[in-house]
Amino acid sequence: MALRLVILGRQGSGKGTQAIRISESFGCIHISTGDMLRAAVAAGTELGQQADAVMKSGGLVGDDIMNGIVAERLAADDIMANGVLLDGFPRTSDQADALERIGADQGVAIDLAVNLEVAVDIVRERMVARGREDDTPEAIDKRLSLYEEQTAPLLDWFAARDLLATIDGVGSEEDVFGRLSAAIDKVSQ
Ligand code: ADP
Repeated sequence: MALRLVILGRQGSGKGTQAIRISESFGCIHISTGDMLRAAVAAGTELGQQADAVMKSGGLVGDDIMNGIVAERLAADDIMANGVLLDGFPRTSDQADALERIGADQGVAIDLAVNLEVAVDIVRERMVARGREDDTPEAIDKRLSLYEEQTAPLLDWFAARDLLATIDGVGSEEDVFGRLSAAIDKVSQ
C-alpha cells in the first residue's frame, strides 16, 4: 500500500531525523519542502532567489508558490507508486486545503498526520545548540511564533478529519521512532 503521510511538529522537534527513518521503514518518499527550497537557493533558480530572504528572516514562503511546488512534485510517478511522507508541508490552513484538493484531483487522500510533540522550551534549546546558518535567535523566535499562529491550527484541521496521531517526541531517537511506527502501522494494514 502506498502510504500518504504528513509529519508535523515544531522546528527542532526531531521531525527531519524521524522523517528519514519513517520513509526508509515504510517505503514512502520523503519530501521536505525546506530541503526543496534550500536546493533552489543553492541552484540560484528564480524560486531560490525569491525564497532566500524570506527563509533567512524566518518567514514563510507564500502559499501560492508552495502549493504549486508541492502539487507538481506529488504528481510524479515515483510518489504515485510508493507514497509520500510530507515534511514541512502543509504549514498553513491554506496549504492544508490545497493538499486536500490536490489529493481529490489525483483520487488519493492523506492516510495519517503524525504530530511530534516537544515543548517549546526544549526545541528552542535544541535549535540554539545545532547552530544552523538560519538559526539566529531572532529567526528562531520568529519561526516558533509563526508555528503557534499558523501551523498549530493545522492540528485541529487534521483532528477534525480523524487523521491526527500525536506522538510524544521526547526520549531517545529509537523510542520516538517506535511510537511513530506503531501509529503508522495502524493505518497501513
Ligand atoms: P524549519 O523546520 O527549521 O523551519 P524547514 O527546513 O522545514 O526548517 O524550512 C526552512 C524554511 O523554509 C522555513 O523557515 C520557511 O521559510 C521555508 N518553508 C519550508 N516549508 C514551507 C512551507 N510549507 N510554507 C512556507 N515556507 C516554507
